[in-house]
Amino acid sequence: GRELPKPSETRILTVSNQKGGVGKTTTTVNIAAALAAAGLNVLVVDIDPQGNASTALGVEHHADVDSIYDVLINDLPLADVLAPCPDIKNLIVAPATIHLAGAEIELVSLVAREQRLRRAIDVYAKEREAAGQERLDYVFVDCPPSLGLLTVNAFVAAQEVLIPIQCEYYALEGLSQLLSNIEMIQKHLNGDLVVSTILLTMYDGRTNLAAQVAAEVRQHFPDQVLGAVIPRSVRISEAPSYQQTVITYDASSSGALSYQEAAAEIAERGRQSK
Ligand code: ADP
Ligand code: MG
Repeated sequence: GRELPKPSETRILTVSNQKGGVGKTTTTVNIAAALAAAGLNVLVVDIDPQGNASTALGVEHHADVDSIYDVLINDLPLADVLAPCPDIKNLIVAPATIHLAGAEIELVSLVAREQRLRRAIDVYAKEREAAGQERLDYVFVDCPPSLGLLTVNAFVAAQEVLIPIQCEYYALEGLSQLLSNIEMIQKHLNGDLVVSTILLTMYDGRTNLAAQVAAEVRQHFPDQVLGAVIPRSVRISEAPSYQQTVITYDASSSGALSYQEAAAEIAERGRQSK
């Protein structure tokens, strides 16, 4: 793999889009895998009750597993739920279980309900430091397709938002709602949050529509959209059924190469802050 720069401090990115099926999870696991494969220390936090990121990274997440649910609701330390990704060194995962489905409602009545993920990550980072372990370089939070309290926790914990956009009709529909929610978070809960990165996914080069959508998104967000574009690829969609990312499943496929390129851009551009 290619050498990538280590960030000067831990970068925390939340991967969000309130639409389902736009490539949030696929983007989370593959960017994380590409950065870890390049030698960086990466944590993936799965906060989608579906647990798709946990599956793709080969980490157990059946109902009996201690998970991010216990961290958010029962104050279990993050360190206690982390599991290594079996195929990729330097990549650890906080799995999601089905219990998380109830967490949106359980969070409502808890103290500091919006800050729970942030605090858990902070405490864990300090514990690593105190134990003389290497610092985390990247944390990626894979969000559910909604703008509820789980996603709010992710926005409060993060410095950056990464928005995957599917290159299809209506791609921009709903984006304004996401952006206004992020503005609300910036105003009231996390003044440091920036939409740093937009990634065009499921690009089908044979259609004019994909090219039009890509051009439109680039025009609206010239500074955020990565140069790398993720093609629609069977290898990408197959990998999770082998509990793998495309980075390990088929390293020379166009899907793997494009995610590696996107990861390199994220690393080389550095943290985007206000
Ligand atoms: P989200 O997390 O936003 O719901 P996913 O990442 O789970 O979206 O992607 C939705 C579906 O599309 C999944 O079945 C996934 O395997 C597939 N998929 C994602 N990206 C690609 C791609 N570039 N090419 C082909 N299939 C893809
Ligand atoms: Mg998902």
